[in-house]
Amino acid sequence: MHGFTVPPAAPRFAPPADLTPITPEYDPWDPIRSLRQYGRHALTSVEFTVTHLCNMRCEHCAVGDSLSMTESPHLPIDLILKRLDEVEHLETISLTGGEPTFREETVRNILLPLLKYARSRGIRSQLNSNVTLDYGRYELIAPYLDVMHISFNYTRAEDFHEVGFARSSRPVGKSSAARLYERMIENARRLAEEGLFVSAESMINFRTYNKISDIHRLIVEMGCKRHEVHPMYPSSFASGLPMLSRDQMREAVAGLLDNRDPDVWMLFGTLPFFACGDDPRDRELVRRLAGERNVTVRNDPDGRNRVNVNLFSGDVYVTDFASIPPFGNVKSEKLDDVFAKWQSHPVQRRVDCHCPSAGCCGPNLLVSDMYFKDVDFTRRRALI
Ligand code: SF4
Repeated sequence: MHGFTVPPAAPRFAPPADLTPITPEYDPWDPIRSLRQYGRHALTSVEFTVTHLCNMRCEHCAVGDSLSMTESPHLPIDLILKRLDEVEHLETISLTGGEPTFREETVRNILLPLLKYARSRGIRSQLNSNVTLDYGRYELIAPYLDVMHISFNYTRAEDFHEVGFARSSRPVGKSSAARLYERMIENARRLAEEGLFVSAESMINFRTYNKISDIHRLIVEMGCKRHEVHPMYPSSFASGLPMLSRDQMREAVAGLLDNRDPDVWMLFGTLPFFACGDDPRDRELVRRLAGERNVTVRNDPDGRNRVNVNLFSGDVYVTDFASIPPFGNVKSEKLDDVFAKWQSHPVQRRVDCHCPSAGCCGPNLLVSDMYFKDVDFTRRRALI
């Protein structure tokens, strides 16, 4: 009798086999892909702010100023799906907050319809979560999700307590924080084990720059498929935090490259180092990043292939740059139209450069404002 080998069942949250795996070679969030494909920047990515509620108050939180205790009703989901239908080149959506899963109602009425819609069109999805709530919430959405994106800046529960509740209006005890920390690690580990692509993001800042390799090790131990690393730029809510010098940042990135697990994808973003840089040490690092296996540097999506939509007001933001107010509103405008208006705005033109040889399409506005105030990137060229 011939024996049949039954192929092992795919883990329950593994993506459908007909979708292209998300890998260093295929990162649909990188705006360089659409720039290459269409010869101009095109809207391929829509981020939704689905809540302003969160159980944490992180000191670095980019949306910290807008976190609240209560919130108004969401816009009708049909309007949102119609606006997505109209985006000609849509490839990805991202769902962010606050903590998007904070209220189960949001999970059922907003996250699930958006994720199911995305899956039905082959559009890839990411959820930004702190994964500190009940596993059941994440189990509900995981079958339809491509990337679970978590923040991880810690080497122990004490760091989590210090960083995660820095802005809390009422004191949070060390033991309560430790329980959440354990749950976060356990949830991330389980989701990864059950086949979900978990990507952990760390910031290089005054707290983490000299222990970023230890943080990396814990992220690998949790089973994350990707470690995403960005420098922290003190803005709005985090404006009181110390800023690192570019030398410190360069050292932290180089140290991480020396100590990383080469089998785990490392994605860097919003780095202040460019192939056109005046400093040869910057160019050396850019060269090294480009040559390492399983390492990518994602171009900044803000305003290049992505807009952010607030699901309460309908406001459309084209960048997290503080001086740019909402640029349109989904109640009355198509997203492609808002995006087109932004492409000719003088602020966008300022950083609208492209060096094909370096695979680079210019700096993030905050980075340019913070480190390169007097540099006109449109007059620069990659030197490597
Ligand atoms: S695209 Fe812009 S930032 Fe990048 S290397 Fe060229 S000039 Fe510099």
